[in-house]
Amino acid sequence: MNTLNDLLSKDPQRIWSASSSLKDIRDMSYLKELSAKTDEIERATKGIDLGGKLNPNSYHLEFALKKLNHVKNDLGCLCALYPDNMFFNPEKENDNNQVKITDTVTTDDKWVDYYLCECTHCHSKFKVEEREGHFTWWSWKKA
Ligand SMILES: [Zn+2]
Repeated sequence: MNTLNDLLSKDPQRIWSASSSLKDIRDMSYLKELSAKTDEIERATKGIDLGGKLNPNSYHLEFALKKLNHVKNDLGCLCALYPDNMFFNPEKENDNNQVKITDTVTTDDKWVDYYLCECTHCHSKFKVEEREGHFTWWSWKKA
């Protein structure tokens, strides 16, 4: 498992890259296998400065650990994690068939205000606001 080796590598670049890619991994048997090592990963990454300025790179590691704990503890559908990560683009999730966008609401000047979508696995509904800062991000809330 390259992801595991990267997470345990103590190399900030590899940890960051593996953490970021974990966000989109949906293969449950793979996640389950990896989640058995959550404690080990937590210990190996503790105190390592991952850098990053506007948005610290540790954000991705924290989310990766949260996801692994979610899988390890059988907390159900992965869509419950959407509110914990501001980089889940609803259009991309829609294209990957993870959610279905049921409505796109725009403001008067045609910018996206929010999306309504539904998880294709458990049918939970979300309201997703699109926001611009130094980068585009999304705020997911269970609807
Ligand atoms: Zn779901």
